[in-house]
Amino acid sequence: MLSNKHMIILIVVSMLLNTANSSEWVVHNAEIMGTTIHTEVWHHDHTLAQRAAELVMQTMQEVNQSMSPYIETSELSLINHKAASQKLSISDELYAVIKRSLYYSEKTQGAFDITFASVGYLYDYRHKQRPDESKIKQQLAGVNYRHIELDENNMTIHFKQPKVRIDLGGIAKGYAVDLAIQRANALGIEHILVTAGGDTRILGDRQGRPWVIGIRHPFNRDKVIAKIPLVNEALSTSGDYERYFDEDGVRYHHIIDPNTGDSARKVHSVTILGPAAMDTDALSTSVFVLGATQGLKLLESLKGIEGIIVDNEGNLLFSSGLQNVE
Ligand code: ADP
Ligand code: MG
Repeated sequence: MLSNKHMIILIVVSMLLNTANSSEWVVHNAEIMGTTIHTEVWHHDHTLAQRAAELVMQTMQEVNQSMSPYIETSELSLINHKAASQKLSISDELYAVIKRSLYYSEKTQGAFDITFASVGYLYDYRHKQRPDESKIKQQLAGVNYRHIELDENNMTIHFKQPKVRIDLGGIAKGYAVDLAIQRANALGIEHILVTAGGDTRILGDRQGRPWVIGIRHPFNRDKVIAKIPLVNEALSTSGDYERYFDEDGVRYHHIIDPNTGDSARKVHSVTILGPAAMDTDALSTSVFVLGATQGLKLLESLKGIEGIIVDNEGNLLFSSGLQNVE
């Protein structure tokens, strides 16, 4: 029925009715963290809404400066340079995000693993480059979250294996979205949406109505498969169509199965809903690696978390709390 391999599932934040007050919504967009950041803020004090939107973008810049693997001076780069040879003191921020990453590694039997980067750094999707079998095998020695040692008393990190590299691409955007929402809320904002690529969080409603998130049909971009009314919710999508190249009919993309060092190929796309974007972000990547069967089992075990999976045959699978949304 659904055969097009180049499927795209996109989250669309649908603008509701143009209400009389719509001019008071402040909308900002920026290119940060290698993706588009989008925010919509409402407050009766327009100046405050403007300030909040600017704070959102500033927060994204800050998180990018500390967690980007592409910035030589980022704290993440420093960790990757030094943590194998010493116990390195790190910031509360990096500590918290790495600790949460390890929590999801435990929850997923290693499907979510920030040490995937020990192999992952050898892929260059833009230039269609990938490591060969022997190189993967060599680098897999560094892939295991248990190689990461966190010391809560001293706030240090240490890699127990010299090949270990970490990358927070599967969780950092969600973290940044939560932080931005929290900071805007501290300014007095109660109605705001922040999106960083595939990760979104919504605070409050949209002037008395819920925000309506439409999920597009995977193979037909004009068709919406589900419309979900949301208030105070986060959602994240992971797909195999964001950063990839195809070679001999095989797709190489940016979500890596830590067991093989190769791209995860059990599903095409995963959308997760939950209270916080850091968690929905980590879980969308996790469920993508786990595949539909194990992924749904994990989702059912987590309170307040729901998910939509598009499997390899194009089937749509919903977690039990979403069975009635269609
Ligand atoms: P996107 O970054 O495109 O929004 P995801 O949230 O799914 O998509 O995150 C994908 C990113 O997660 C990859 O670019 C990479 O940085 C990181 N990643 C890839 N494989 C894993 C894995 N097995 N565990 C944790 N992080 C991963
Ligand atoms: Mg993710």
